[in-house]
Amino acid sequence: MSILIAGAGPAGSRLAEILANRGCKVTLVDRLKNAYQNSFSSAVVPISSIDNFSIPIKSISAYWKSWQIFAPDGSSHKWSSKNELGVVLDFGELRQQLWTKAINAGVEMLSGWKVNSVHSLSSHAQVELQDPNGNKHLRKVLFVVDATGQKRSLIKHSQASSNFGNDELLKGTGIEWILQDEKSSNKWKNSISFFLGSCWINHGYGWIFPMAKNKLKVGFCSIIPPNSTLCSNSSNINALKKLLSKFSLNTLPVIERHGGEIKSTIKRRESHSDGRLVGIGDAVSTANLLGGEGIRHALLSAEILAPLLEEACNSLNISKNGEFFVLQKYQKSLSRCLGWRWTVSNRIAKKTWWGLSGKIGDERLFKLLNGLALKASAEDISALLFEYEFERYGLRLLPYLIGLR
Ligand SMILES: Cc1cc2nc3c(=O)[nH]c(=O)nc-3n(C[C@H](O)[C@H](O)[C@H](O)COP(=O)(O)OP(=O)(O)OC[C@H]3O[C@@H](n4cnc5c(N)ncnc54)[C@H](O)[C@@H]3O)c2cc1C
Repeated sequence: MSILIAGAGPAGSRLAEILANRGCKVTLVDRLKNAYQNSFSSAVVPISSIDNFSIPIKSISAYWKSWQIFAPDGSSHKWSSKNELGVVLDFGELRQQLWTKAINAGVEMLSGWKVNSVHSLSSHAQVELQDPNGNKHLRKVLFVVDATGQKRSLIKHSQASSNFGNDELLKGTGIEWILQDEKSSNKWKNSISFFLGSCWINHGYGWIFPMAKNKLKVGFCSIIPPNSTLCSNSSNINALKKLLSKFSLNTLPVIERHGGEIKSTIKRRESHSDGRLVGIGDAVSTANLLGGEGIRHALLSAEILAPLLEEACNSLNISKNGEFFVLQKYQKSLSRCLGWRWTVSNRIAKKTWWGLSGKIGDERLFKLLNGLALKASAEDISALLFEYEFERYGLRLLPYLIGLR
């Protein structure tokens, strides 16, 4: 019997490839008909991820060496390095490359198919699939992996029943347009640019990222507190139009419009498995909301789960409540690898984005940006936002970061 993976984003595709290379029989299912459909992610990753997570070189759209931040009053700060600090991926191409690697490793790929439901039984799991024509099919498999991203299509019910481990769920809603910038303005090249403060958007941030072939990714993400009456979609679209007009980008052809959500609990205490169902990637809150970043963490979760799942396939070691001992190790291993900094970063995300509105939020930001302008190099900002090394800024900056001042 095989393993069935629902969802062929970065997490599901990477897991499928690793398991197939280890000799497992794997089926990978995605509701998308092709890898380029709704490539919602702005897909910035630090340069170290290319090697650490074997990101296919073909999916790299642009390299960047500078951080550029536009402050609440419109002024900008730039931190540059001699070296490349990161890349902007073409998310559709990333999926395509990962799908191809999985298929070449022997994975059965069902694109345009949907996983409707899973029933975990003592000897196997029963899965209902829906083909592109709407016909239903039943399959018996050993394990099912929920890699359906923030939708958590399959594991949601067991997580929600424990109220996400009494944890808070942070939710970001993003919109992104891809523009064709034939004039190829130098302002946006080799940098990733962010827009912070109430003159751009409340409870969120905007970005302009360079891409290959003179394209630009321009977007906004809102992380609105639960008691707010603001609507993410209208805030994002209004902010986007204002930004495009401010930088005279509103006359450029828009070649793609996409969007999506990013959701994570702060402490990641929700269950990661339920009988023969186990979750990876955004489905178990690996995305970090501070920088709205989850690709490398999703890949990490796949790498951690793969050997444990292989072991579970070969083991009859089931606990009294029907859970697999080996899968219980998975949640602990993943939390250990993401580390305490990941949790601190998500706490800071909540403080920062929920608190970032109006004058008070702007003043906090000015202090933070002025502190960073005086003290930090481009490498320091990368260490802060990608390695979550907040303690570097010790007593001076940490209180601003966590919103105490
Ligand atoms: C606006 C925005 C900007 C972002 N920017 C960045 C960034 O700059 N850098 C970064 O690292 N991360 C970024 N992220 C987050 C990142 O994209 C995700 O963390 C990452 O894609 C998670 O990977 P995943 O494989 O867990 O899930 P996903 O990539 O969401 O993949 C899930 C897959 O499951 C499929 N699926 C869903 N339900 C079913 C079903 N029932 N049956 C079959 N298939 C199903 C979907 O079609 C999808 O392909 C951003 C997210 C958003 C929303």
